[in-house]
Amino acid sequence: MTQATSRTSDTKLSQFRVKGEIPVPLLIGRLTLAAVPILLLFAWRSLDRGLTGSATVLIIFAALLSLNGIIYLASHNCTLQRRGFITVITVLFTYLAVNAVEDGSAIIWLFAYPPIIFYISEARVGVIACAGGLAAVTLLFSPLGDMAFNSPYSTSFRLTMLAVLVFEMSTCYVLDQSRRRSKLGLLKLAAEFEYAAKHDALTGLANRREAHEQLEAEYQRYLRNGRPFSVMLMDIDLFKSVNDNYGHHVGDQTIIMVAHTLQEQSRKVDTLSRWGGEEYLALLPETDTADAIQTAHRIRQKIASTPVNADGHSINATISIGVASIQGSESIDRLLQRADEALYRAKTLGRNQVCDFRGH
Ligand code: GH3
Ligand code: MG
Ligand code: MG
Repeated sequence: MTQATSRTSDTKLSQFRVKGEIPVPLLIGRLTLAAVPILLLFAWRSLDRGLTGSATVLIIFAALLSLNGIIYLASHNCTLQRRGFITVITVLFTYLAVNAVEDGSAIIWLFAYPPIIFYISEARVGVIACAGGLAAVTLLFSPLGDMAFNSPYSTSFRLTMLAVLVFEMSTCYVLDQSRRRSKLGLLKLAAEFEYAAKHDALTGLANRREAHEQLEAEYQRYLRNGRPFSVMLMDIDLFKSVNDNYGHHVGDQTIIMVAHTLQEQSRKVDTLSRWGGEEYLALLPETDTADAIQTAHRIRQKIASTPVNADGHSINATISIGVASIQGSESIDRLLQRADEALYRAKTLGRNQVCDFRGH
């Protein structure tokens, strides 16, 4: 996988949420609610010990986190909330480490940083933030850091802190990668299930349930804008004889090949579905009866003039088509019933025919 692809899928991944996963804005909200009282508690302790400067800075951090929360509540901008939160906590942790707050013990809060960063941001941001944090702590613990900040940490504490920090960051990275892979797997599985629920396994066309959904959506559009739509009910003629003469497998191949030709002949906006065994339904949005009949004739001719090559057998399949267009306030069921009656008439008129409801 290239870096660009992994970046794209990581970004996409964060847009989907699987059941049970805590949404990032909610997690940031909860962390803010927990952090503000803790910061105020330590500010109060600092005040008690006469450290007014430290108390003021901690109160400012509490105010900034609260402000970030308020801005999110007003704007519902998740990206702004996440970026604001990451910025404030990064500066906060830097301050805690550099200024040796609480006699230097506050640096231990740095361990809270990796899991939070990995959860709320993309893996790439998590890695960069953790690497940056580790480099900053290493610098702080180096002789250069001592010259600049005069930190109170002992050598053994520095070594242990760095080792545990590396261990924690690596563990967080591995666990986060595993979480993201599991999530990706679940999303792929959900997409496969969704596809299977909407499509016919043999032809790959929409199945009858999906066709009903599309019909309902088109019907609602018709009720709003009054532009009629049409349906074509198509049935392979004398298909039973294909099965009888060549076997079920060749019958299946014929159903697939006819579906391909129908799909080639359909517009992008049309929905073509497998309605039953060797029956197909085409939904033609914003199409009146005259246009639908013209389309039906073109499709019928195309099928009749294209021999189906199934398993080495050349089969001259033909189809009969019943056309109906929505009218007045009739229901979808009534429309389908009229298309079925038109198809029946096409069969009785000798097959390889197009009929509309009035029998033209
Ligand atoms: P008509 O021109 O009146 O439509 O005649 P027909 O033979 O096509 O119609 P009939 O309803 O008598 O037969 C349809 C046949 O289609 C019967 C059924 O066994 C077969 N069939 C239905 N689904 C499938 C399928 O998925 N695969 C195969 N191979 N055959 C199927
Ligand atoms: Mg048939
Ligand atoms: Mg049939």
